[in-house]
Amino acid sequence: MSQSRPNSSDGKASRPASATGASSHANGSTRLPGSPSFAQQLFAGQFAVDQIMPYYEQPENTAAAGDSMVAKTKNYCGQFVFPDRIDQHALLPPGIIKGMGNIRVLGMTVDKEHGGNKMSTSNFCRVMEIIGGHCGSTAAMVRLQSCLVLNLLQTYGTPEQQQKWIPPIVAGDKTGAVVITEELAGSDINNVHTTAEPKASGKGYKISGEKRWIANGGKADLLIVLARTPDDYGPAGRVSAFLVPADAKGITIETETENKLGLKGVPIGSISLKKVSVTNSDLLGKEGAGIEMVEAATALDRIVFAATTVGGLKFLLEAMVSQATTRTQFGQTIGCFDQVKQKIANVASNLYGLESAVYHAAAEYDCGEQSQVVESKILKLFASETLYRAVNEAMDIWGGKSVFKDRPLERMFRNTRHSLTSEGSNDLLRKQIASHAVDAGANHQPAEKPTRPNWLQAAEKMLPTSPTIEVKHEHLRFHARWLSSHIKKFGRNCHGASAAEARDGLRQSRVADLATNLFLSSCVFSKLSALMVNGTVPDPEKRFEFDTGALFLQRARHANVELFDQLKVNLDEDETSVADQWLAHQFDENNWPIAAGASIAPSEKPKA
Ligand SMILES: Cc1cc2nc3c(=O)[nH]c(=O)nc-3n(C[C@H](O)[C@H](O)[C@H](O)COP(=O)(O)OP(=O)(O)OC[C@H]3O[C@@H](n4cnc5c(N)ncnc54)[C@H](O)[C@@H]3O)c2cc1C
Repeated sequence: MSQSRPNSSDGKASRPASATGASSHANGSTRLPGSPSFAQQLFAGQFAVDQIMPYYEQPENTAAAGDSMVAKTKNYCGQFVFPDRIDQHALLPPGIIKGMGNIRVLGMTVDKEHGGNKMSTSNFCRVMEIIGGHCGSTAAMVRLQSCLVLNLLQTYGTPEQQQKWIPPIVAGDKTGAVVITEELAGSDINNVHTTAEPKASGKGYKISGEKRWIANGGKADLLIVLARTPDDYGPAGRVSAFLVPADAKGITIETETENKLGLKGVPIGSISLKKVSVTNSDLLGKEGAGIEMVEAATALDRIVFAATTVGGLKFLLEAMVSQATTRTQFGQTIGCFDQVKQKIANVASNLYGLESAVYHAAAEYDCGEQSQVVESKILKLFASETLYRAVNEAMDIWGGKSVFKDRPLERMFRNTRHSLTSEGSNDLLRKQIASHAVDAGANHQPAEKPTRPNWLQAAEKMLPTSPTIEVKHEHLRFHARWLSSHIKKFGRNCHGASAAEARDGLRQSRVADLATNLFLSSCVFSKLSALMVNGTVPDPEKRFEFDTGALFLQRARHANVELFDQLKVNLDEDETSVADQWLAHQFDENNWPIAAGASIAPSEKPKA
């Protein structure tokens, strides 16, 4: 099946400066800075056609540069990256990071002036797809260095900070870590208690605090530490980011690596900071802007995470098909059984949906600052849950042999569990995605002011109407119709939600899932539209790709119908009421056979 095909037009997703400040869109249209992204507009019931159609295709010249990096990366991974050994020894040999520097993967997000070999985000995603399909730990480590550490330095660093840290990290000689989490600051990263006390001399700060679960924290040369600085506006202060050399006086690596479930090649450490002295020139970006900077950097990180997941899904799909076509039971290959077929179709169609959305978002990311914040959250949510389910489905098909340590699925099963919680737990992401529904409702402007006295007609006019979705091929007519009708319905639901409904956590989850289905379906629709008018793709190949993509659309439609129903009729009250009773329940030895408190380690007991 064909993937993103290069075209001959020079539609590179760059952002040329223009007199109006408008940026060039990935598909050639223009948009003003700060204007809402495609996914944001879905919440207002709009299908921003000029942002999504035609489907972005890499121009031939940039695709060729990407091809060469993809080939080098494939070759390097095949020769030097052994995921089973990395997992078994819980160690990513430092030579691998150095190797990623040597083949210029680490420089792909960095401008040439800083020693990088900057390429489009689409090309970086193509390379990360290869690494993600090969080794989860290596992918996570490269992502950490490129999307977070280098991205933060390049975007917010001073020339001196950039000169000091970027070249050795790009070369793979040094590594960094992003140091946020504390016992009381997990999902709630604003609750950082580590302090950066300004020195009396005014020449810097003293940082003190305890950080835990930091990827690469015990091994990194550079720690990007989030700490609270005093603020004129409130006693609690605000969170700032500091560049702290890991060998600075006052830093103790309490634990170099915790023994954890998966991603064994990425060590997770705990760090204590005691009056660590930094200068004013070690402040990264503006004082008080630490959280915003990290959140902005995670937009790229989440898109790239989804690209690594595309690689993982491709690995799994092949593994499923290979087993289904060779393993015989009841006198037939197991691929003859409908249950097995259904699992393969699930993974293949979800892969199509995710890949379509990743390469749309990657191209858009290059067009404008932070324009893909909502999209990146949707991608992380969908990618992590899809990969986790896909590993389970592949394990079903592999039967008993799937659980043995000498097989890759056992390792992938452990690895994929991590991404559901880390880098923004999916529950939290659902709430954040749904918060755009509130913005859309508040900001929705009626097409015209109501002029007729009839209040019903007036109210109707304020609501989103069905957006027009152009049909490029007869086979897509049905999908254009339901997509348009669901986008209208979604916009109306967001627009019409009461304040209480907007705050309802379970409703928020459904709104986020609807947004996810609509965004991915729009990307698939756009990609299939381009496919169906492409005269160079032979018919059998076209049919194969169309059927896989159309299955994604059908499944999204079915899921949406259920989600819309559940917005009205659901078991939410019963569920929360039962949970409330259990939350108030006293577990003691007299009424509960399991020793009370057995599941909570002492250090995890809630603090007063
Ligand atoms: C492998 C790994 C690597 C990591 N790497 C780093 C790193 O490099 N740097 C770093 O600083 N940290 C890192 N962390 C920490 C990670 O960011 C946190 O674990 C994560 O933010 C979740 O915090 P928590 O574990 O304290 O969970 P909690 O915040 O306690 O959340 C637990 C659960 O509560 C629910 N929940 C919480 N808040 C809400 C809400 N508002 N609404 C609904 N549900 C909610 C969710 O279901 C959530 O999953 C890493 C963790 C792991 C496991």
